[in-house]
Amino acid sequence: MKFCTVINCMDGRVQLPVITYLQKRFNAEYVDSITEPGPVRILADQQPQHLVESILIRLNISVDKHGSGQLAVVGHHGCAGNPVEKEIQVQQVKDSIRFLQRQFETLEIIGLWVNEHWQVEEL
Ligand SMILES: [Zn+2]
Repeated sequence: MKFCTVINCMDGRVQLPVITYLQKRFNAEYVDSITEPGPVRILADQQPQHLVESILIRLNISVDKHGSGQLAVVGHHGCAGNPVEKEIQVQQVKDSIRFLQRQFETLEIIGLWVNEHWQVEEL
C-alpha cells in the first residue's frame, strides 16, 4: 500500500480531480486528505494557531503511520474560504510549502492549482 498526502480545500468540487491527479503523479494507491476551507491561507499566515496545529498533527499521522513521502498543497478557483485572486493564492501555496518543508525536511512537497474548469495544474 502506497500513500501520499494532500492538504486541500474542503470544497467538494476539487476532491476527485486532485485525488485522481495525485494517484497518478506519485504512483500512490491512496491519498490521505487533510481539508480545511482555504488551507493555504491558514498555512501562509500561520494562523489561527489551533488550525495550523491540527493540520500538522494530521500530516504527521499520514507521514508516520502511513509512510507517506509526498505531499501536495492545493489552491483553487472560486474558493469560498479564501476568496482572493489566483496570484495571491499561488503565493500562499509557495509560502505554505516553505513553512511545511521546514517541519518535514524529507517530504517531497508540490503545489497544485485547480482552475475554473476543475482541471489540476502543477505550480
Ligand atoms: Zn476552497
